[in-house]
Amino acid sequence: MPLMSSAYDQLLDATIRHLENLQSRGARHVAVSAETLRALALPPTSSVSAQPSAVSRQPATVPAPAPRATPPTPIVPMPPIRTATPAVTAPRVATPTPSDPAKAAAFVELRTRVLACVKCPNLASSRKSVVFGVGNIDSPLMFVGEAPGADEDEQGEPFVGKAGQLLTKIIEAMALKRGDVYIANILKCRPDTPGQSAGNRKPTPEEMATCIPYLHEQIDLIKPKVLVALGGTAVEGLLGKTIGITKLRGTWQTYRGIPLMPTYHPSYLLRNQSPLEKRRVWEDMLQVMEKLELPITLKQRNFFTKG
Ligand code: URA
Repeated sequence: MPLMSSAYDQLLDATIRHLENLQSRGARHVAVSAETLRALALPPTSSVSAQPSAVSRQPATVPAPAPRATPPTPIVPMPPIRTATPAVTAPRVATPTPSDPAKAAAFVELRTRVLACVKCPNLASSRKSVVFGVGNIDSPLMFVGEAPGADEDEQGEPFVGKAGQLLTKIIEAMALKRGDVYIANILKCRPDTPGQSAGNRKPTPEEMATCIPYLHEQIDLIKPKVLVALGGTAVEGLLGKTIGITKLRGTWQTYRGIPLMPTYHPSYLLRNQSPLEKRRVWEDMLQVMEKLELPITLKQRNFFTKG
């Protein structure tokens, strides 16, 4: 069935991306049980629910009983988040320990469920991808946007279009890398626009209510120290507040005990290129950096102060 095989392909792509991400962060080994290896060697079946279960429902802590050529290396510690300048104090964004295998397994299981979701039949039939989320699941910093656009739907990754490129620049201006943070959306599917060949629409309240439990689960697993809500829809989804983003941005809010900074969506900055608005977003990010006790250079403090 096309739907099943595309979900399976997406899961495979997601797994490859996750492994590449680990590799880019210096990991050279991952823990995989013998049972999982046997399951991976089997040809794909037509049922997507049967596919990942062998991979994802493994208790991550079960030791691999099969003999190995080399001693098992459970998981290699990830390097800390890099900073652009030598840190005066150790950056608190650093990840000193590798991801807990049970957490990683829970994340794979959640991803599997989300990739197979058909709760919004219109979105499930119009989408090319389910855009689950991307980044470091141990990151103390998580960005939340609205919903995938056409580029994200195409590539299966959040914030890869023009707004995403701007978000990546903002992250890099914070002396972080995109892979150091976690990025997700309120909606995991692109809102459909029947009869239109282009354009985006805001998610409906029903779509948001249907999809938001997945984001809650992602946040519960990641446990970031700081959340950044990009735009009014992200604020509405996470906090249930419909106060305009113009009023709320720059003021700390709380999501289930986690400090949340509302700021403008990067697509707003693309539409409104004024240095004042760029500076506003940057001041919000400076507050985020302060909260995370990241080092801030004088140069960073002064970004976007000259028109
Ligand atoms: N806008 C969003 O809110 N999310 C994306 O992933 C892309 C654009």
